[in-house]
Amino acid sequence: MRRSARFRGLPVSAGLATGRLHIADSGAAVSATPDEVRDAFAAVAAQRSALAGRLRGAGRDEEADIIEVAGLIAADPALVEPAVAAVRGGEQAATAVREAAESQAALLERLPAPELAERAGDVRQIAHAVLDQLSSPRAAARPAGAFILIRREVSPADLIDLAEAGLAGAVSVAGGASSHAAIIARGLGVPMITGVDAAVLAAAEGQHAILDADAGELIVGPTAAELAAVANVNGAGQPQARAAGPASTADGRKIAVLCNVASATETRRGLAAGAEGVGLLRTEIPYTDALAWPTLPEHRAQLAPILELLAGKPATVRLLDFSGDKIPPFLSHGRQPGSAAAGTAASASAAAGLAGTAGATAGLAGATAGLAALLAHPTALSDQLLAALDAGRRTRLSILIPMVSALGEVTQVRDALARAASAAGADLPRLGIMVELRSTAAAAEAFAPAVDFFSIGTNDLTGQVLGLDRRDPAAKPALAAHPQVLALIAHVADAGRQAGIPVSVCGDSAADPLVLPLLVGVGVDTLSVPAAHVLRVRSVLADLDYPACAALADQALRASTAEEAWKLVLAQ
Ligand code: PEP
Ligand code: MG
Repeated sequence: MRRSARFRGLPVSAGLATGRLHIADSGAAVSATPDEVRDAFAAVAAQRSALAGRLRGAGRDEEADIIEVAGLIAADPALVEPAVAAVRGGEQAATAVREAAESQAALLERLPAPELAERAGDVRQIAHAVLDQLSSPRAAARPAGAFILIRREVSPADLIDLAEAGLAGAVSVAGGASSHAAIIARGLGVPMITGVDAAVLAAAEGQHAILDADAGELIVGPTAAELAAVANVNGAGQPQARAAGPASTADGRKIAVLCNVASATETRRGLAAGAEGVGLLRTEIPYTDALAWPTLPEHRAQLAPILELLAGKPATVRLLDFSGDKIPPFLSHGRQPGSAAAGTAASASAAAGLAGTAGATAGLAGATAGLAALLAHPTALSDQLLAALDAGRRTRLSILIPMVSALGEVTQVRDALARAASAAGADLPRLGIMVELRSTAAAAEAFAPAVDFFSIGTNDLTGQVLGLDRRDPAAKPALAAHPQVLALIAHVADAGRQAGIPVSVCGDSAADPLVLPLLVGVGVDTLSVPAAHVLRVRSVLADLDYPACAALADQALRASTAEEAWKLVLAQ
């Protein structure tokens, strides 16, 4: 009798899905013909040249120069031809591309001019991009109908781009419940497991499978009986029943329930389930593979389809948060466009001819990543603010600053916002901060007079307080019940109450039944939750009693571990 293969994983987004496997991974064997390899280099060259054109059009000539040279590297026959020839000779595509890049990089590293030797990294980056191009689940042919995406590290952008193309479930070798891919999967209602053995990457493309994300299991090649038992299960993206009116606890305490989104798909879904609006728009998700700061037209094109769904409703646009597991290549390689060290790039054969532009960008500011990088760039912040003000005219717009650590950051954004609002002829929106760093939470009373609202980011806050990386499989939303984290949340809620400003929680713990009663108990008045969880959160709230939650939170604050706090919640 035929046996199915089973893979265990950590459940990070609940649900059951069936579909054919779609396996994509640049680290695995990429099977490609010589022509496909040549086309992939050409596509990477074309993408860079188009981006250079957009940057030049936006007046960002120095960044355009850098990206243009990267395009020249990708089109350089000295790099492309050896890779194509190796594949023609029978070499596997990933090896052929890497070896061609390595030999060019080695030539560059031996050059006496340091600015040219540094270009070795650019050649390796192009090789990466070519391999991504060859294996991207977004570019590659997918099985017809519903499919389950399998990837060494599923990215949030994969999920958003594929959400309306038949994506029924996702399986990732890397990551945990607090990784952004898991967060987006929960928002979309796509079942997902992580931490699966890498052997899953060797499964056959197109094979039937069942993903039981509640049980943390992928069944590859299920039997007819196993398939029949889960027939008609794919429900991701389907609108849920709509709940009416504002949410409240059983004793009538109003709690605003909004949704967290990064796409129009999630926004439609959250609103259909009764979300009052968007409490967190993660604007950085489409740009985690970006090669430069988005331009004003790119921001507009991203924001308009989401914000036009939110006329008359709260729309909280968070400024680009390129931190943690969301740092794009142009900020993570240490030589971002616009940074002092960035200059021309060239493969060995192109090096001599391009040397003239080396150092063209010397002297420009270059913070590493995160909010500091956004604030240091001459136009990144103003471009995003202008686009949000413009696209959000008909919404109840708020701007949310991520990863705030100092009052000066708030002042800088407030000043930029005033300038942008006056340039756009738009009303001044409310300005709030993410409270997601321990030091900011502890000093909440110092920030309160400078802002219009607090939004507590329990994903980062919990990780920082408990010393867990976002990708660590041990990191999970329920850990926000840990007394040390809860005490900080209570402190922020107190500071907000005293200053008369609203306090929301937009980390994923707001949808976790083990934490939600504690958040209500410490006085949080707004929850922003994954779009697909809006209905469930509203119904959990409807069963809660505020005075009982307040007493429970008091007890949990005196506990010594998260487990003790969970037991108190479960015993309620
Ligand atoms: C958080 O840290 O809780 C948060 C909402 O931001 P993100 O998950 O995007 O880092
Ligand atoms: Mg965060």
